[in-house]
Parts: sequence; C-alpha cells; structure tokens
Amino acid sequence: MKKTFTRRGFLQTSAVLPATFGLPGSIGEAGAATPEVRTIVPPRLEGAYLGERILCHRPMRRGSPNLSIRQDGSRTIAHNYGHGGSGWTLAPGSANYVVGLAEEALQSGEGSRSEPVVVLGAGVIGLFTAFELVQRGFSDVTVIADRFESLTSHNAGGLLAPVSMDNEPEMQVIIDRIGVDAYRFYARVARGELAEFKGGAVIVPTYFEDRSESGLEPYVGVVMQPAKDVVLDFGNGTQRPMVAYDDGIFIDTAVMMQALTDVLQNRIRFEKKKIGSFDELSANLIFDCTGLGAGALNNDPDMVSVQGHLIMLKDQMPQDLQYMILVYFGEDKTDAGQKVKRSFYQFPKHMPNTGVNDIGVVGGTFIEGATINTPNVKEFDILIAGAKRFYGL
Ligand SMILES: Cc1cc2nc3c(=O)[nH]c(=O)nc-3n(C[C@H](O)[C@H](O)[C@H](O)COP(=O)(O)OP(=O)(O)OC[C@H]3O[C@@H](n4cnc5c(N)ncnc54)[C@H](O)[C@@H]3O)c2cc1C
Repeated sequence: MKKTFTRRGFLQTSAVLPATFGLPGSIGEAGAATPEVRTIVPPRLEGAYLGERILCHRPMRRGSPNLSIRQDGSRTIAHNYGHGGSGWTLAPGSANYVVGLAEEALQSGEGSRSEPVVVLGAGVIGLFTAFELVQRGFSDVTVIADRFESLTSHNAGGLLAPVSMDNEPEMQVIIDRIGVDAYRFYARVARGELAEFKGGAVIVPTYFEDRSESGLEPYVGVVMQPAKDVVLDFGNGTQRPMVAYDDGIFIDTAVMMQALTDVLQNRIRFEKKKIGSFDELSANLIFDCTGLGAGALNNDPDMVSVQGHLIMLKDQMPQDLQYMILVYFGEDKTDAGQKVKRSFYQFPKHMPNTGVNDIGVVGGTFIEGATINTPNVKEFDILIAGAKRFYGL
C-alpha cells in the first residue's frame, strides 16, 4: 500500500509509509535514490513528563528589525531591536553589524573607544552587543536594563534558523549575511573553540518539512551542507518524510546567557534601571537593545509582540533527544479570538539547576498582538496534542 500526501495536509493524520522505505540509499522503482530512514524514539509526552509551562513574547518588528544609526544632536543612538523569533539566531552577527555601523559613524565624528557607552537592554541582543564592544576595545561600557532575569532571551527555544521574521527583500540580504556570521560564531562554540562559552551550542540534525520553511537555504554552500531527504521512523508505525540539515545548531539559551554574563562581569558595569527616554542617559553613544521595550521608547508603531507557548519536558532519555524538529500546522483562532499560527517544535533545551534527564522543550505558537493580558492558556494543551499527533502517539 502506498500513500500519497502533501506536506501540510500530511500532519493532520498519522502517516504510515511502506516498509521498503527502510533501505538507506536503495534505488526505488522510478530509479531515484530512496531517502535514508532514521529511527527516532519519541519523547515521553504523558502528563508526568511535562514540566514548566512558559509563556513569552517575541519582539517582532514589521518590515525588519531596526538595525540603524540615528544622530540626535551630539548623541549617536544605534538601534538593534525587533528580531522576532530569530533573536538568538542573529544576535552575534547583528551585534557585529550594528557596532560596525556605529564605528563608521564615530570615525566621521569626534567619538573614541574610551568614551562612555551605554547598552540599553540585557537580553541576548544587549549582551552580545556589549561583548562585541569589548572585543573591539571599547573600555567604558555599561549595560542598563530594568530586568536581567527570566527574559524572553532565557526562555527561547534555541533553534538556529531565521524563521518568524518579517523582512523586506532588501533587508533580507543583510539578515542572511548577519545569520551566516552568527552561524560561524556558534559553530566555533559547538566545536569547543571558545572556552568561555562551553556547552552553549551543539551541532545536531535539524528536521523541517521542506527546505524553504527552514530559512537555512541561504547558509547552504556558505557555512552549511545541503539538506538531505530523510524519513523519520518513530518505531510505532508512524513515519514522516522530512529534510535534514545535519549541521544544524542548537543554542542552549539559558547556558549562553549565563556564559555571556560571566564573560562580561569584570569588563563592564551592569545597572538596573528603567529608562523612559534616551534623554535620561548622559553617554554620547547608546545602543538600543530593548526588545519589546523599544516600541514605547522609540514610539515605533511597527513593533509587535508575538506570543509563544513552551513546555519543558522532564525525566526523558537525553540520548534520544539530540535533534531538533520544526513543522508548521496552519492557522486558527485562539480562545481570545486572536489569530494563531500553530507549529510543533522540539529542541534539546535544558534549564540550569534541573536534573540531567530534565531535557527537551516543546513549542510553539505564534500569536501576533497577544500579550501577558491574553495568555491563551488552552494553547499549552493544543501544543501537546499536536506533538503527540506528529509522533503518532
Ligand atoms: C517562545 C519563543 C521561542 C523562541 N525561540 C527562538 C529560537 O529557537 N531561536 C531564536 O533565534 N530565537 C527564538 N526566540 C526569539 C528570541 O528569544 C528573541 O528574538 C530574543 O530573545 C530577543 O532578545 P532581546 O535582547 O531583543 O529582548 P529581551 O530578551 O526581551 O531583552 C530586552 C531587554 O531590554 C530591557 N528593556 C526593555 N525596555 C527597557 C527600558 N525602557 N528600560 C530599561 N530596560 C529596558 C529588558 O529589561 C531586557 O533586559 C524565541 C522567542 C519566543 C518568545
């Protein structure tokens, strides 16, 4: 029995492909090489294995993130905000790009590397920006933020892929360059070449339904190998055709936040303060890395919160979870009547101070405009139902 399917419709039902799919590299009837079959043991998804439920909000900017320099009298404001669902994917490259723009502006002005610099915001974007400044020899850097703990940046899943963004075509070219730059940084972390960031990134197979949905095609041939067609076999009669990027990168976000803080600890100052206007800051060079806070601070109507739901897994078999998956399910309305794009993703995320077997995170929803006031809690259950459907459980 041979089933035909389209990729999107496919996920609505549990699919069983013929047993002959299991011969790696064998030649099918039509003469094409059949995809490699990879066996994956599904995670445990019953109630006892589900941990913390996390609600957090992506700082998305319609049109593109704001990566630009603004001259305000004698003051230079360098914007680095609005990275949506790809802040981790882009952060090191984005910091390099924006600090580069600021340096160009300084060279044409009076500034020097010994003058005070403020980085506003202590999420992944702010910390990588501060790190970039220190690397380039800026000696008087202060990170100011109203919050340092349990930020979106700590909670994020950790997939390296430029997804869930909204870029205009000319900006996409820059975003691709920034992403490649960031990939190079994380690959060095994953290979153990940067001792300060030990354990912050790992190279793992990363599965999508098709190449275009991965956002990674611009990286192929530059820093990544081409994706392969594979079939995932969950050992329970369910198989799914996917594409595999075997040099995908998982970023352990909470570990990286701690490592960045440790690296910066004795080199810069940290100050806890909420800023209502750039006028409250005396420095002549300010990096605006305020994520969702940038909306109010800059009166930027393009900033929007995109809500996401995550469930941490516990008591799992760590060796069975060394991969990442992202598949999209389609659109619907939440209980609060908000438009939701549902997907299923799973990454080998591990929160510090939890047991070694408390590994894995399941996501994810994308609810544009939803905030803490509309938590859409029912989405957590829908998430797990989608994950079980995917694995045929
Ligand atoms: C569910 C979910 C899953 C995600 N998964 C991934 C993923 O797998 N891969 C990926 O690449 N990205 C992912 N992301 C996206 C990523 O988490 C974000 O793009 C990134 O964390 C944004 O970082 P940030 O530093 O801009 O913002 P934040 O982490 O929110 O930090 C903002 C900082 O600015 C400070 N601030 C704001 N306003 C002010 C003010 N007025 N005064 C003082 N301080 C201020 C805050 O206190 C905070 O310190 C995910 C996001 C969500 C919600």
